[in-house]
Amino acid sequence: MPFRRGRDGRRRPRLSAKLLIASSVATVIGFSAICASVMLDMRRGEEELARQTLENLASGIDADISRNIELYDLSLRAVASNLETPETSNVSKEVRHLILFDHAASAKHFGAIQVFNADGNLTIDAASLDPQPENRRDEEYFTVHRDHPDVGLFISRPMLHRGAYAIVLSRRITGAGGQFLGVVVGSVRFSYFHDLFGRLNLTPGDTITVLRSDRTIIMRTPFDLDVIGKTLPDTAGWTRERLKEGSWFAGKGPIDTTPRLYVRRTGASPLHVVVGKPLASIFNLWRTEAIRIGAIMAALIVFVLSTALFLAREIGRRADAEDRLEEMATTDALTGLRNRRKFDAEIELEWRRAIRHGVPIALMMIDADHFKAYNDTYGHQAGDQVLVGIAICISDAVRRAGECAARFGGEEFAVLLPGTDAIEAFKTAEMIRAKVEQWCEGEIITTVSIGVASMKPVVGQQWGDLVEAADKALYAAKANGRNQSVLARVPQIALVA
Ligand code: GH3
Ligand code: MG
Ligand code: MG
Repeated sequence: MPFRRGRDGRRRPRLSAKLLIASSVATVIGFSAICASVMLDMRRGEEELARQTLENLASGIDADISRNIELYDLSLRAVASNLETPETSNVSKEVRHLILFDHAASAKHFGAIQVFNADGNLTIDAASLDPQPENRRDEEYFTVHRDHPDVGLFISRPMLHRGAYAIVLSRRITGAGGQFLGVVVGSVRFSYFHDLFGRLNLTPGDTITVLRSDRTIIMRTPFDLDVIGKTLPDTAGWTRERLKEGSWFAGKGPIDTTPRLYVRRTGASPLHVVVGKPLASIFNLWRTEAIRIGAIMAALIVFVLSTALFLAREIGRRADAEDRLEEMATTDALTGLRNRRKFDAEIELEWRRAIRHGVPIALMMIDADHFKAYNDTYGHQAGDQVLVGIAICISDAVRRAGECAARFGGEEFAVLLPGTDAIEAFKTAEMIRAKVEQWCEGEIITTVSIGVASMKPVVGQQWGDLVEAADKALYAAKANGRNQSVLARVPQIALVA
């Protein structure tokens, strides 16, 4: 984090533009994450609700189909078992009709029950006492019972049966010795399914599919004759793994490409029901809401980030202005060196640091020689140029971090050299003095006198002592003839260069 120094020299944290942007970005990411999580929860809720609705629908349809098939099957069983008793063959046709067929078998949507003998010839027809000759020995619903005694109730593929599309239900008639005596056959017309599905409140795109256990499509709404009767390969759409009993699957089904949520139910009958609802219609409301909240979030993000960028730029500008102001407040306008105010602050800081760390601190007091005379001779402006020249010579020699060159007042300069012992400081003073001497052009020679002092301060001492020592050394240099450096030993022992 960037820092700036206060007037007392302490470091204070400054509100950084980068920090502001980083915190704004973090806030935006945080809010976006919360928002996304809420939206995903809402989506899961919509899916769960749709799943429950589809489950209920599938259960209702399955229960209706199972009940009707069971009732119809009971009639078929009754016919088969009654025919197995020899007494039924000894009665008249009318009585036999009364014994074999109850009212359930003549219910709406159900075809009349028929009995075919072991050769496939029609022998008994619930619809007529004298049925027309008919042979069905090639039909699957006949051969399956002839060849496999244990089939039980057989449900055929959808087919045209007695002038209407229907599924044929059949049961085997077995003799006392287990021999094949024929089949009893009934049918459930498609009108049953149309009627059942028509009573439901379906929205466009919803599908109901009734399948046989071998995945043959018995019925489907929306109704399409091309699809009815097809056996789905196990690889198409809802595989056995994907759509187990009681489970659900979201994706493309085997018949069309619309992604749906599919739910499967299997009841007591050998059929199972798969109900599907397009994902688009399930998530329609959610999507509208997500777009609305997303748009609001995007607008808020743009607002927060642009505000943060604007504020960051303002903070940057303000910090630059403050830096410039501080620079101006601590710089001497003529020479560009530190001013007296800054020097006082620096010496205070470095003095305490030197006490803390037990290191020496050196100070040079530099004064232009005979400067009054120079001014009087060449004018004040020329004098100013000389002061700038001396300042450049000082700056050239004082470059290390922590060193501070300042205009102490008038034609007097001070150089603070933290961590520098007397010998080193004296060398630097001589370097400056030589530079000033060399810098002068022509006959007018400008020189400086320098007082140097270095101390290893201890608690209780004041930096004024160092200034006083350097000042005294400066007077000594002046007194000794100027253009020289004098090192003050503490207590004051002068060394003439
Ligand atoms: P010494 O060698 O003993 O230091 O003699 P001096 O003439 O330099 O010392 P004195 O203190 O008598 O004179 C200082 C002169 O410095 C007086 C003033 O005219 C001059 N002076 C002080 N400040 C400025 C300034 O900002 N610009 C100019 N041009 N002259 C200045
Ligand atoms: Mg002076
Ligand atoms: Mg002077």
